[in-house]
Amino acid sequence: MAAKHQAPKGTFDVLPADEAARATVSGAARERLRAAGYARIETPIFEDTGLFERGVGESTDIVRKEMFTFDDQGGRSVTLRPEGTAPICRAYIAHGMHRLPQPVKLAYEGPFFRYERPQEGRFREFNQIGAEAIGSASPLVDAELIILLDRILTDVGIPDAELLLSSLGSPEARADYRDELRGFLRDHESDLSDEVRERIDSNPMRAFDSDHAGTRTVMENAPRMLDRLGGEDAEHFAAVRELLDEAGVAYTLDGSLVRGLDYYNRTVFEFTCDRLGAQSGLGGGGRYDGLVELLGGPATPAVGWAAGVERILLAMETRPEPETIDVFVVTGGDRAAASALVRRLRDDGLAADLDLAERSFKGQMKQADRSGARHALILEGDGTAKLRDMSSGDQRDVDPGAIAAELGGGGR
Ligand code: AMP
Repeated sequence: MAAKHQAPKGTFDVLPADEAARATVSGAARERLRAAGYARIETPIFEDTGLFERGVGESTDIVRKEMFTFDDQGGRSVTLRPEGTAPICRAYIAHGMHRLPQPVKLAYEGPFFRYERPQEGRFREFNQIGAEAIGSASPLVDAELIILLDRILTDVGIPDAELLLSSLGSPEARADYRDELRGFLRDHESDLSDEVRERIDSNPMRAFDSDHAGTRTVMENAPRMLDRLGGEDAEHFAAVRELLDEAGVAYTLDGSLVRGLDYYNRTVFEFTCDRLGAQSGLGGGGRYDGLVELLGGPATPAVGWAAGVERILLAMETRPEPETIDVFVVTGGDRAAASALVRRLRDDGLAADLDLAERSFKGQMKQADRSGARHALILEGDGTAKLRDMSSGDQRDVDPGAIAAELGGGGR
């Protein structure tokens, strides 16, 4: 036998048994976001590498070491998208969406790629649902988006996610704070990891995300941007908090929340779940008021989030059962007649199936059972039929022509 191929490291197959749970997550996101006026957008799976270098930031972990980047046959550097916000801002600019009524509210779902060390809940190809509202600086939008993610998580059966909330202030206010943080980090340089030390100048805030024990101890006493908010930044944050309180969405203030992407300002947030272990982030996001301009568009405030579908699936308390069929047709006689009946039942809107491996009558009954069908329709050789309820075992005579009406076929 030839050697078996394995799926690449950090990837996985989605099997039929997983489909119902995935459909629940997609369906909840679609419904909630559609009902709030978010229209679907799809952008390409790969983009010019420069989009992410610019948009996500050269000093982020994503750009430094996690991108799947390659040259295409025309010698252009392209990258499998590691996140959705920069591509959506690119599309907003490219399609002149700033001329539409603002904010433009967009929702998406699809695969993303990061070369990370695979572990439970962390993959190299994973799926995200996400939402962005581009073109409003109002705290109403920050709150709306946070509340929507809270509701989606509750809808799919994660009522106990914890919401961590912070504000990074405006870029100008943060510049002063970063200087203060750099000073603090230099004072404790010998206790920091090499990686954090190397990035004191370029990205000091990443120190809050470090796993390194010494760095973590140092960071417990580090100054926090959340304690330095002033003026309009403080007002904005207070307004977001008030709107969340009013909606009954509980949160924990966490001044160490910085998030791994460079583009955030003001509100940042993350939903986490205890059931997830080390990779506890279900989803998160924040404001990115400078990104559209950074990517060549007009100055445009924006806010958004992304949540990991696989993490949500891991955190769900109960998984929906795979869908079963309505009726499995079993025949003691003419297989072609059974097949024609199945075709009519399907046309009438029922989920119907039959044995396709020429099994004996007994073998077909076994298949009916294995299929999980709610009913078996047993065709006798003489044109009569019996309907069997597979869970109770009750059986009664029926007219095969009237089955669709009886079992509630929707019609097409
Ligand atoms: P981020 O874009 O890093 O804010 O990620 C948003 C969400 O996507 C996270 O909270 C996770 O739920 C999910 N996510 C990010 N990276 C991965 C990964 N490598 N594997 C699985 N899920 C991920």
